[in-house]
Amino acid sequence: MIFDVLTIFPGIFTSPLEESLLKKALEKGLIQVRIRNLRDYAQDKHRMTDDYPYGGGAGMVMKPDPVIRAVEALKVDYPEARSILLSPQGERFHQGLAKSLSEHKHWILICGRYEGLDERVRMAVVDREISIGDYVLTGGEIPALVFIDAVSRYLTGFLGCEQSVEDDSFSRGLLEYPQYTRPPVFRGMAVPEVLLSGHHAQIERWRRRESLRRTFLRRPDLLEKAQLSEEDLAFLTELKEQGGISGQD
Ligand code: SAH
Repeated sequence: MIFDVLTIFPGIFTSPLEESLLKKALEKGLIQVRIRNLRDYAQDKHRMTDDYPYGGGAGMVMKPDPVIRAVEALKVDYPEARSILLSPQGERFHQGLAKSLSEHKHWILICGRYEGLDERVRMAVVDREISIGDYVLTGGEIPALVFIDAVSRYLTGFLGCEQSVEDDSFSRGLLEYPQYTRPPVFRGMAVPEVLLSGHHAQIERWRRRESLRRTFLRRPDLLEKAQLSEEDLAFLTELKEQGGISGQD
């Protein structure tokens, strides 16, 4: 998968791409991340990428020309590439979107700064607009990294174990169950016995129930869309009766 990233602050991308799984994915060639400095597409003498807003008001606005020129040049070379503008006004990003967008193989990610981009960028070259949440950041670079990270996790071979992406929170519409590693007792807190039992069916049942409990307590809104079995529904009824806080099974 190719990510072409358009930014005026290329340095932001250095360390996140030089560690852990993203670094490995780059080394393995599973992903390519090409950071392109928008200044290189500016044509005026000072290579300006921003200017004052028409109508007055605080802050600067990113000029349309360098961004549009950059996207158009990429689309000439790669007609399949689709452009995403990272923007707090875009469609809210979520796990399902990360999964479905991982099927497309070439993304151009446009990072805004200051007050954002001249509206004509959106009109001319933006295929999708994505927001990573209802808050405003100083720039689209961190949202672009969020996008690269969440989408890349779906590529075959990205994670050590293929199963884990499906078990993660949100993947099945629920939050993930609690995880433990050694030691079995830490500061008086013991790992639930069932996890040490080696009994796979019981472990699965415990995980499912803890997953339901967590979701019920923390994100009950997710339960409305989750696929639930008869057994799940019976357990949820039990939880509602108890208020959900009876600890581990
Ligand atoms: N004035 C704009 C916000 C500009 S923030 C407005 O109110 O809509 C500057 C840049 O940061 C944006 O152009 C966008 O690229 C990025 N950005 C900020 N918050 C974001 C979010 N929640 N999701 C995605 N991108 C965001």
